Formats: sequence, C-alpha cells, structure tokens
Amino acid sequence: MYAILVVGGGPAGLSAALNGRRRNKQVLLVGKEELSNKLRQAHRVDNYLGLPGITGLALAEKYREHAIDNGVELKNDEILNLSWDDGGDGKVFQGMGKNEIYQARSVILATGTPQKATIPGEAELVGKGVSYCATCDGMFFRGKRVFFLSELVAGEKEANFLADLCDKVYYLPRYKGEYNNLDSRIEIISGRPTEFHGKERLTGVTTSEGSYEVEGVFIERASLPLDRLLPGLQMESDAIKVNRQMATNIPGVFAAGDCTGRPWQIAKAVGEGLVAALAAADYLS
Ligand SMILES: Cc1cc2nc3c(=O)[nH]c(=O)nc-3n(C[C@H](O)[C@H](O)[C@H](O)COP(=O)(O)OP(=O)(O)OC[C@H]3O[C@@H](n4cnc5c(N)ncnc54)[C@H](O)[C@@H]3O)c2cc1C
Repeated sequence: MYAILVVGGGPAGLSAALNGRRRNKQVLLVGKEELSNKLRQAHRVDNYLGLPGITGLALAEKYREHAIDNGVELKNDEILNLSWDDGGDGKVFQGMGKNEIYQARSVILATGTPQKATIPGEAELVGKGVSYCATCDGMFFRGKRVFFLSELVAGEKEANFLADLCDKVYYLPRYKGEYNNLDSRIEIISGRPTEFHGKERLTGVTTSEGSYEVEGVFIERASLPLDRLLPGLQMESDAIKVNRQMATNIPGVFAAGDCTGRPWQIAKAVGEGLVAALAAADYLS
C-alpha cells in the first residue's frame, strides 16, 4: 500500500511525487504516457524561471530523472476509476488501472486539462457501446464492427488489439502522424465525428465525411472525463474545485496542474504539485 498515489506524469504529477518523497512518503505515480505529450510538444519554453529556451522534451526528461532519483516509483498505466472504502483501518483508495489495481491512503490528481464527453451521444452511450478502454472492453465486441476515435498515437496499439478481435475497425486519428504502425486490416478514415447514434445501444457514428454502422466506439484521449474517473468530484467551470491547499471536496484527494484550471502553464503546475504533496503529507499524519 502506498501513502500517495499520483495520477498523471506531467509537470504537476512529477512535482507532487518528488515532494511527497521529500516528505518521506511512499509514492507511486501512474502515468498514461511516459512523458507528458503536452510538455513534449512545447518546442521552446521561455517563461520558466531560470531555464530560458529549454525544450519541453528536455524539461520533461529532467523532471522524470529528478523524481526517480528521489525514489518515486513510476508505472506506465491508465487509471480508469478511483474509489475508496473507509474500513476499520482508515480510508483506503483503490485506483483501477488497465493493468493492475493500486492502493493508497491519499490521491493527487494531475491529469492535465480536463476532458469532457464532447460528442453528441457520447455521454449517454457510455457502457452501451461507447468505451474508453479497448483492453478492458474489446472482448465484448468480438466479431463486430467498431469505430476507434483517437487523439493520441497510443490509440494505434489499442486499435491493433481490436483488429485481432473485431470484424471491422475504422480508425479516425485526430493527430498528425504516419500511422505506419497500424494493422493493415484497419481502415483509416478522416473527418470530424459529429454524432454517436442509438438509444439502448450504439448503432452508428456520423462524421463530417460519412456514416458508419458500428456496434462499438472506442475513444482514446489524453484523459478521461473526470466524472468517470472519480464520481462525486466537485467541478467548477470545467476544472476541479480545490482550496488553497489543493484539496478537493473528497477528503484525501488533492489536485494540481492544468486539471485545476487556468493558466495552463508549467510553473503553475509545478507549484501546485508541491502544495498538493505537502497537503497530502499533512493529511496522512
Ligand atoms: C505546444 C505547447 C506549448 C506549450 N508551451 C508552454 C510554455 O512555453 N510555457 C508554459 O508554461 N507552458 C506551456 N505549455 C503548457 C504546459 O505544457 C502545460 O501547462 C503543462 O504540461 C501542464 O502540466 P500538467 O502536469 O498539469 O498536465 P499534463 O502535462 O497534460 O500531464 C498530464 C498527464 O496525465 C496523464 N493522465 C491523464 N489521465 C490519466 C489517468 N487516468 N491515468 C494515468 N495518467 C493520466 C496524461 O496522459 C498526461 O501525460 C505548452 C503546451 C503546449 C501543448
């Protein structure tokens, strides 16, 4: 069991994890991407004090190395759901990952810019044909036709997994790439998704360029809608509501970085990660 489970490996998560370790806590950081995609995309960072002109990639690598050197444990996984029980031995959080279940006494959410179910029909059809995890739900669609909407290169691996199971996989990438790693059985399509159809079950997808009769839709984004990750988490203007200690409305759960709102900047993320870690350490003691 860990003292602190940090969800997300960007500047906020790595700062929280490092500072949790510096308070001598056992810290596990679970990150969906090895290095924050957002930070990697920053070609030149000029507003981070003391390191003018550094690339986002170089900064991300420095952060990661610093955290590891201080004993932070890193796992490459996605937390799909967080829950807790208040057993006799105190509150314990369970983070259900794609690969494992993680347990901790406190949680720091550092999941980046909050995502919402943005496509008409998406929120209504989650669990009725719309899924955020091919690894978890792919088997339900064995022999069926599915649609894969991906905002990340990481979606290619998940789509390849579906190609082995499903009768047909349409892949709609919403990122620039070569798509060379996609299984040849997958049909790459273009356009913008405009609606998911169906009432009791998903029946199809419309995009700006066509319609597709499918029974499943898989979506790969940088993060899950937060109300799916942690039901009951209070939001304010599409960001996680926190106080000055970065505490959320759920005791033992803290948040830091872009997920708590603007400005979406590295220095804010790093600072909030520090505050969240210190507050989590106080909560634990
Ligand atoms: C092109 C570009 C240029 C930029 N330039 C600058 C700049 O010059 N200066 C500046 O200050 N800022 C800049 N930014 C903004 C900066 O990158 C962000 O503010 C910063 O990365 C936010 O850090 P974060 O840790 O809150 O979130 P992120 O860096 O987005 O990291 C969150 C991580 O959590 C992971 N995650 C989400 N959900 C889960 C889950 N359920 N389980 C596991 N992992 C999960 C995500 O995959 C992601 O890797 C730039 C951004 C972009 C895109």
